Amino acid sequence: MFSGGLDSTAMLVKLLAESSDELRVHHIRMVNREGRDRAEQRAAQSIVAWCRARYRPFRYSESALDFSALEAIPIDYLSIAFVACQVAIDTPGCNRIAVGALAADTDIANRTARQKRVFEEMYACYRARKLGEPQVDWVFPVWHTPKAGLAAALPPELLDLTWSCRRPVEGFRPCMSCKACKAREEAEKLAERQGLRAPVTPAHNPVS
Ligand SMILES: [Zn+2]
Repeated sequence: MFSGGLDSTAMLVKLLAESSDELRVHHIRMVNREGRDRAEQRAAQSIVAWCRARYRPFRYSESALDFSALEAIPIDYLSIAFVACQVAIDTPGCNRIAVGALAADTDIANRTARQKRVFEEMYACYRARKLGEPQVDWVFPVWHTPKAGLAAALPPELLDLTWSCRRPVEGFRPCMSCKACKAREEAEKLAERQGLRAPVTPAHNPVS
């Protein structure tokens, strides 16, 4: 499951570079009142093109959930569980789902447990119709890596393609004040302080 953010991009690179697993990379266009879907989709597609050219071929697909008419912002990890189930069923032989969750993410143990609960209830409905593999495991390839370590490990030009902001200004400019912007800024600064990478411009993913 690939958002186009720093964490899932680091996960994708790790899987491409360190495994020979056949990958199906899937991006969900999460359309809601935060208005981040176009920037995320552009990031996802740019990153996929970059990785295909430099690592190895893989299958890529997208789907969309449009909640833009709702006042409330739906919980992402539940939407991801819902879509992951459809994608697993749609992928012959699929027996693992990889997500870019980090051990340091807020309340991640509970969120992950709820996410898997939604997935498993849905998947059981398909299994009742003899569809899908008998078992699907959720894997967390970058779980133990701090965000600064992920930022440091990514090639700088790839890091610049990733998108983090939840509430971009006019669709494509990072707000620099949401939780995701702050976490990313902190990770990049830490990576620089530790001498792990050269300074990067704060206005990542610039609009041309
Ligand atoms: Zn932001």
